[in-house]
Amino acid sequence: MKRIYLDHNATTPVDPRVVEAMLPYFGEKFGNASSIHSFGREARKAIDDARQILADFVGAQPDEIFFTSGGTEADNFALKGIAFANKGKGNRVITSKIEHHAVLNTCKWLEKKGFEIIYLPVDGFGIVDIEELKKAINEKTILITVMHANNETGAIQPIAEIGKIAKEKGILFHTDAVQAVGKIPVNVNELRVDLLSVSAHKIYGPKGVGAIFIRKGTKIEKMLHGGHHENNKRAGTENVASIVGFAKAVEIAKKEMEDENKKLLKLRDKLEKEIEEKIKHTKINGHPEKRLPNTSNISFEFVEGESIILSLDLKGVAVSSGSACTSGSLEPSHVLSAMGVPPEIAQGSIRFSMGKDNTEEDIDFVVRELVGIVKHLREMSPLYKE
Ligand SMILES: *Cc1c(COP(=O)(O)O)cnc(C)c1O
Repeated sequence: MKRIYLDHNATTPVDPRVVEAMLPYFGEKFGNASSIHSFGREARKAIDDARQILADFVGAQPDEIFFTSGGTEADNFALKGIAFANKGKGNRVITSKIEHHAVLNTCKWLEKKGFEIIYLPVDGFGIVDIEELKKAINEKTILITVMHANNETGAIQPIAEIGKIAKEKGILFHTDAVQAVGKIPVNVNELRVDLLSVSAHKIYGPKGVGAIFIRKGTKIEKMLHGGHHENNKRAGTENVASIVGFAKAVEIAKKEMEDENKKLLKLRDKLEKEIEEKIKHTKINGHPEKRLPNTSNISFEFVEGESIILSLDLKGVAVSSGSACTSGSLEPSHVLSAMGVPPEIAQGSIRFSMGKDNTEEDIDFVVRELVGIVKHLREMSPLYKE
């Protein structure tokens, strides 16, 4: 059976060129980057080159980039590190209701440690309300953290606008840009962010590696104590092979992102148009323009999203019900809830996230199968009326 993968916001296949770049670092280039001999220097050079590539890609300086074990660690580092370094100044952290759990659950933990967290609402398109942000800022505010692009709906947040406000008020600003960097242009200076999280495995790199941008001069508490790795900010022997793979993925994204996006937009429009035409009682969740070109979140009324996922899986098609981290729980998506989507409709929502290997034929196949699956499930639903 042919398998079709439409869950690229959960993770992506590793690009073969990335695998190829990584392989020597599992073999003859095994040195520890902290060693001063030639083996060590070889690893050090690879990491320095990777740091330069990532820094250039987001408009940062290399000494503002710190490699981590992924997006989750970068988010934890940013939030806890800034909160604890600024405890003397205030205890308010402003975030949004639609963040990834790496941010939301870190916020919940900070609440237990005495910080006050404000969760900003979003509008019906899933975009954060700037007026509410302005109202939430007080003299105790030490950090604003709002994600760049949402993983469930693809909604792109007004990061530059928030950055401008944060700057005016002298408040540090972090963005979880895991779904943005490598998919849309991101520049830390244009956005005026002080901290930014990225991850490799959402952009055809390996899992278990990411990075955080920390603007020079930003006071931050360490999370991992040990050796002097990563400019004494993140201890632990560097994951050289993964860092090299990450940089290769970034180089590829830099070259191919623009063309890729044109293709993805076409596929997404085709998917949405055909679903709207062929299946009644559907609704697209997310902003018509301010959205990642690869992401489509669609509600199918009168059916359970989980049932659609399982039925499509039997046909070899992989989709998801929003965030990979919440599937398996029957709670409706916190993102769709924040957008005002009623729970019974949120339950019937599917995230299609496309990638560079998808084709028009894939979309044709998926729509054809979906028509039958939704019809069948609705026939079994006691709630369904034409
Ligand atoms: C995937 C994801 C993360 C977590 O990154 P990992 O590298 O998987 O830890 C954080 N934020 C967003 C928006 C994500 O999509």
